[in-house]
Amino acid sequence: MEVTIIYMKDDVCHFLIEGVDVAFANALRRTMLTRVPSMAIDEVLILENTSVMYDEMLAHRLGLIPLVTPLEDYNHPDECDCEGKGCSLCQCTLTLEVEAEGEEKLVYSGDLMSQDPKVVPASDKIPLVKLAPGQRIIIEAYARLGTGRENAKFQPVSTVAYKYVPVVSIDTKACDRCGVCVEICPKKIFRLEGDVLSTQNTLECSLCELCVKECEPNAITIDSKPDSFLFKVESTGALEPTVIIEKALDILKERIRIALDFANLL
Ligand SMILES: [Zn+2]
Repeated sequence: MEVTIIYMKDDVCHFLIEGVDVAFANALRRTMLTRVPSMAIDEVLILENTSVMYDEMLAHRLGLIPLVTPLEDYNHPDECDCEGKGCSLCQCTLTLEVEAEGEEKLVYSGDLMSQDPKVVPASDKIPLVKLAPGQRIIIEAYARLGTGRENAKFQPVSTVAYKYVPVVSIDTKACDRCGVCVEICPKKIFRLEGDVLSTQNTLECSLCELCVKECEPNAITIDSKPDSFLFKVESTGALEPTVIIEKALDILKERIRIALDFANLL
């Protein structure tokens, strides 16, 4: 198995994984979605809420804020010495105290004050509620580690998808250089220079096969490699995309080891 990072910017990572089958690629995708832990607000104590938004709605919105997660600093509550009751090793407290005085005020995720400077909202610009003059909210919220299996708010990725690696072949004997494929390809992967038709950025190919349908002499074939997959991962900001990929691979490896041990016992 070989992993090559193709594109990386901020919270987005595209990588190529080679030497695996589709079952493994899908298991990796699902592991990133549901088994890599991240922090989210899980309990909310509403001390005062005179806004028009119901307490439950406000708590729901707080839960969906992605929080930057220092994975090494916190225990999962189920594995903590406090037995899930909540302590500083498995829980982080955030407070929110905002009042609209003279005019309307929009409360943002950035107004949350965290007890741990490492556990902060991934973005300060997520609107929570709008307060009319005189309205006030005072909230204490408790964040903890969790996984997407428990609740989607713990998913560290907003998108994780894969596709087969396209193989675009041109039969140079059959090709009459009409240039239709150059025009019709939405990803612009064909290039006609003089008498030579070539391909570029073939990983961009979406396998739409428009070129194959429009090519009169049937000179183009689109195929895919059976053991290579192109992944696109977008983090919510809770964890770095590379951390999500590494962690998912570790978790998957451990689960395979446990399954093999169990199979050997039978
Ligand atoms: Zn604890």
